[in-house]
Amino acid sequence: MRLTGAQVYSGKDGFVQRDVCTDESWISEASGDGKTASLKGCYIIPGLTDLHFHGAKGHDFSDGDPEGLQVIADYELSRGVTQICPAGMTLAEDQLLKVCKNAARHRKTSTSGALLCGVNLEGPFLSQAKKGAQNADWLHAPDVEMFRRLNEAADGLVKLVSVAPEEPGALDFIKAVADEVTVSIAHTTADYDTALAAYQAGARQATHLFNAMPAFTHRAPGVVGAAFDTSDCRVELICDGVHIHPSVVRAVFAMFGFKRVILISDTMRAVGMPDGDYTLGGQAVKVNGKYATLADGTIAGSATDLMSCMKTAVSFGIPLDVAVRAAAVNPAKAIGIYGRVGSVESGKLANLAVLDENLELKAVLFKGQVAHGTL
Ligand SMILES: [Zn+2]
Repeated sequence: MRLTGAQVYSGKDGFVQRDVCTDESWISEASGDGKTASLKGCYIIPGLTDLHFHGAKGHDFSDGDPEGLQVIADYELSRGVTQICPAGMTLAEDQLLKVCKNAARHRKTSTSGALLCGVNLEGPFLSQAKKGAQNADWLHAPDVEMFRRLNEAADGLVKLVSVAPEEPGALDFIKAVADEVTVSIAHTTADYDTALAAYQAGARQATHLFNAMPAFTHRAPGVVGAAFDTSDCRVELICDGVHIHPSVVRAVFAMFGFKRVILISDTMRAVGMPDGDYTLGGQAVKVNGKYATLADGTIAGSATDLMSCMKTAVSFGIPLDVAVRAAAVNPAKAIGIYGRVGSVESGKLANLAVLDENLELKAVLFKGQVAHGTL
C-alpha cells in the first residue's frame, strides 16, 4: 500500500510530506500491492510504545488473567499504542509469578492486539513511605533471586524493574541486575546523593518523575537532580493533565531535552470504561473523569491512554514532533525494540498511527494491516 499526502514523522527532521509504502508487514521502498490511500491533511506517526501502564477496559495486567490481557492488548492497539510493556503492581510473589507467566504465554500465543514487548516490574522493591497506591502488605526489600525467578517465569520478558535506592540491599541489587534489565528509580524517599549512587551503580531511568518521590528544590534536588546529572538516564512523565502541572511538563522537556523524556500513561483498569468504582493492586479506587484516587485521595494511576497523554502534551505547548518522539521513539529505545519499531523507516514493522489535522486518531496500521479506523 502507498500512503500519500500526509505529513510523516521523520525523526530529527520533524514532519515531512512524503509517501509511506508498506509491503505485507513492513514499511518498504515501494507499495507491495499497488493500492493507494490519500491522507492529505493527516499525520503519520510511528505506533506508540507504552512501557508503564497497568490496565484498561476493566482488566489489570496484575490480575494474571489470559482473557483480560488480551482485552488490554486489543484496547491499546485501538488507541494507536502498537507495542506494550505492561507494569505489575506490588503483590505477593506467587501472584507476580502468575502475572509473569501470563505475559510469557500471551507473547507466545496471542495473534491480535498490541505487541507485548516486555514486562515492567514496578513493585515490590519500593519504599513504604512513598508507596502511593502500591499495597504496603507486599512491599519487599530488593531481592536479586526473586527478580530472577520472576524474569524466568516471564521467559526473560522483564525489561524494567523499579527500585527505591534507600531500601536495604538496593545498591547491590542494582549492580547485580543492571546488565539484565533497565533499573528505574521509583516510589522513593531518596535524596540527591542516594539517587546518584543508584545511577552510578547502573540504574538508567526514573519512574513517573516527580510522582512518589521528594520534590526538586534548590538545596535538595533529589531524584530529579540526580537523573538530570546522569546524561544517559531517561525519565518517565505522566502527562494526563492530573499528575503533573503543565508548567512542569514544559520544564521537564526543556531540562532533559527531547531524547530523554518518555511519556507513559500509568493507566489503571478504568481507562476505556465509565466513571465508577474499580481496584488497583487490590485496593479500591474511585474514578471520576481523569481522576483515579484511593479513599484517602492518593492518586491511583491514570484514566488517560498514552495517545491522549501525547495530545495533552501538545496542548501544553510541547511541539508535536517532540511529543511523538517521547511517546514512540524514546520508550522503544528504553526497552530495546527500536530496531524493529518506533520510526517510519523502510525495513521496520508497519506499525503506524494516522492522526487527522486535530490530532484525533483516524486509523491504526498493525503489521501493515488496518487494525482500527479507516484510511
Ligand atoms: Zn507508581
